[in-house]
Amino acid sequence: MTTSTRVHNFCAGPCTLPVSVLEEVRDEMLDFGGTGMSIVEASHRADAYDAVHMGALADFRELASVPDEFTVLFLQGGASLQFGQVPMNLLAPDETAGYVDTGTWGGKALSEARLVADVYEAWSGAEGSFTRVPTADEIHVRDGAGFVHLASNETIGGIRFPDFPELGIPLVADMSSDFLSRPIDWGRFDLVYGGAQKNLGPAGLAVVVVRTDLLGRSGRDLVSYLDYRTHASADSMANTPPMFPIYVMGKVLAWMKAAGGLGEFQRRAARRADLVYGAIDGSDGWYRSPVDVASRSHMNIVFRLPDEDLEQRFVAEAAAAGLVNLKGHRSVGGIRASVYNAMPVESVETLVGFMADFRSANA
Ligand SMILES: *Cc1c(COP(=O)(O)O)cnc(C)c1O
Repeated sequence: MTTSTRVHNFCAGPCTLPVSVLEEVRDEMLDFGGTGMSIVEASHRADAYDAVHMGALADFRELASVPDEFTVLFLQGGASLQFGQVPMNLLAPDETAGYVDTGTWGGKALSEARLVADVYEAWSGAEGSFTRVPTADEIHVRDGAGFVHLASNETIGGIRFPDFPELGIPLVADMSSDFLSRPIDWGRFDLVYGGAQKNLGPAGLAVVVVRTDLLGRSGRDLVSYLDYRTHASADSMANTPPMFPIYVMGKVLAWMKAAGGLGEFQRRAARRADLVYGAIDGSDGWYRSPVDVASRSHMNIVFRLPDEDLEQRFVAEAAAAGLVNLKGHRSVGGIRASVYNAMPVESVETLVGFMADFRSANA
């Protein structure tokens, strides 16, 4: 099979993966490494899987330059389970933490955390319709707060923290939609987490990186699966791990290492973002970005057209031209182009060309 049948997939997640990774998976599907079976048919206690699993843990650590004092965990339940699991593990029932509400995901993290801990809203972007991230001095840090939680990138609103606020207390970040798209300054964080299905691989896997000395910090009796210590003491193989997503993510991590690492992916992301925002800004206001320039996401680029009819036609005609999943999230409307780590710049150039043609035909 050739790749010519493949579309340009701008889906917000799950999303496009490197073709070379998909080809390797295909080639190994009937016989993984001479075992006579695929990896999804193997025992998770088999040597073949053990090498895949430990390799993925090691590659994540190396690629993200995770320091020795952090533990990397592979968990199920997506980023959504972490909204509750983080406070369960880091906060005693009477302790507090601040949550920055920058939109859908920052807000969800806060409302879920409230179910298990006495957390508070440290800033809300609601007044500005979630079109920017706050500055450090806008974020309220309460005396005794354990951490401040934020979403590094809001997948639906299309905003991100270009740098992380210096608050004098540790940060905890949901990095789901820009995970490993830029280097991480680990000194600022107690914990970061994200679902794999935006930047790193298939759905079904969350990666949590936590300071090892915080394990057991909350003193709570938790269901074993919810206690990070269960997974930390077993290399994330305390129970059957999500083998297939870990296997595919391992290949994506190897592909990222070979391509040059996080600095290279940061450059690629900036290039893709410059192309699309350039097309928006160069359209004399015909295409319009609703978000604050300094907060513009490099992963999820949202924009509007002069009216909703045109937006519907834009999505339909783009799909007919092989550019799919450009419809904005139903909660905000408009157009959203998600351009994650594996999105080739050629696909973005094709999109920008389509934007120019569509404008000429309709302006
Ligand atoms: C997609 C997403 C989530 C939800 O992830 P699940 O793995 O589906 O639970 C949470 N936070 C952010 C920033 C996301 O982009």
